[in-house]
Amino acid sequence: MRYIYVVPVGEIEQDILETLREAIEKRFKVKCKVADPLEHPGYAYDSHRRQYGSTAILRKVKSILPRDALRVLGVADVDLYVPELNFVFGEAEIGGESAVISLYRLRPELYSSSPDEKLFRIRAIKEAVHELGHTFSLRHCPDPKCVMHFSNSLADTDIKSTDPCPRCESELSLSLERVGFWV
Ligand SMILES: [Zn+2]
Ligand SMILES: [Zn+2]
Repeated sequence: MRYIYVVPVGEIEQDILETLREAIEKRFKVKCKVADPLEHPGYAYDSHRRQYGSTAILRKVKSILPRDALRVLGVADVDLYVPELNFVFGEAEIGGESAVISLYRLRPELYSSSPDEKLFRIRAIKEAVHELGHTFSLRHCPDPKCVMHFSNSLADTDIKSTDPCPRCESELSLSLERVGFWV
């Protein structure tokens, strides 16, 4: 039996981890476990940008890959970046084993809106499914409603659904079937 692991990167609320765990099991039809938390990602901090390098966190998450892991998804709560972009919601290895997302930019209160727990959770699910979708070889999709559409901003995230479009869904099924052969 192999699992998708959700790995807290630093201190992350249990509730949101459980929400993600359930959503991932339902979407990918693979058992999902929450792993023990990793340390706060101070090693990834860039003091000029005042942000955290997502690639360094991705490497760290990959380095703790449990033996029975099919995939690992790191869940951080810091502002992530890659050198080419102002920020990222997450990062993943296309067709690889690891992905990372951050909850940091997903809370309405960061943009002076009132807190909305439900909206926050839905955004987190979309980002988790999107990044894990990349690990199952899905690339960005032109359909703005598809979960694999690239989010340049939260408005893009809010437009898309938590599910892949029919074309991405069938690619995902193929990819999951291939995985099935080696479990
Ligand atoms: Zn993407
Ligand atoms: Zn699609």
